[in-house]
Amino acid sequence: MRPKGVVIAIDGPAGSGKSTVAQKLAKRLGYLHIDTGAIYRSLAFWALERQLPLEDGEAIARLASELSFEYDEAGLKVGGVRLGQALRHERVAEVAARLACYPQVREILLQVQRDLGAEGGVVLEGRDIGTVVFPDAELKVFLTASEEERALRRWREEKARGFDSSLEEVRASIRRRDEQDARREVAPLRVAQDALQIDTTGREVEGIVAEIEGAVRKKLKG
Ligand code: C5P
Repeated sequence: MRPKGVVIAIDGPAGSGKSTVAQKLAKRLGYLHIDTGAIYRSLAFWALERQLPLEDGEAIARLASELSFEYDEAGLKVGGVRLGQALRHERVAEVAARLACYPQVREILLQVQRDLGAEGGVVLEGRDIGTVVFPDAELKVFLTASEEERALRRWREEKARGFDSSLEEVRASIRRRDEQDARREVAPLRVAQDALQIDTTGREVEGIVAEIEGAVRKKLKG
């Protein structure tokens, strides 16, 4: 067993409920929650901030290798800064999905994610955690939800944060992103063979967290 406990991988498309579920599950288990999407978003944030040419995979990979990535109970710090809400806009997510297609970028961020989770006692959420980052994770979960519900969730989140995108814009953006994530050549969004698949459409968060927690406890005993 890893020094601090097991690794739990939660993957799924945008708006499938990963963050809410991963956060609550980590709290219940006393584990660290690592949002790997925020790692890709932070890279996008800094690339935009520094006005790097987004079509230049080498320049973006150089930026990825220069930045420091730290994670603690208060969340992620990239380049020494807690970016927090600045990462949440769908525009940042779109750029993140674009940069996430560069193999040389993924290679650098792969190592960052493995280092962050190496000791265990972590719930990592993303797109390729169970398939690529931690293929030996003790528990793999794949969350889905109907496209309508995923778009609604993201739109409500954006509204609550004071962004003014329309539901149609949010729906189009997550559709584009999901297609890109599923189609890219390196580490596409895929269900790991041994993942527990959960459709979160119309379900309460508590019930989903309890279902996953039950599966974790079973693994820990077994
Ligand atoms: O999860 P979130 O929506 O914040 O992720 C933003 C983007 O980062 C995704 O659309 C995806 O392109 C990329 N990503 C990835 N692999 C991960 C996590 C996120 O490619 N493990």
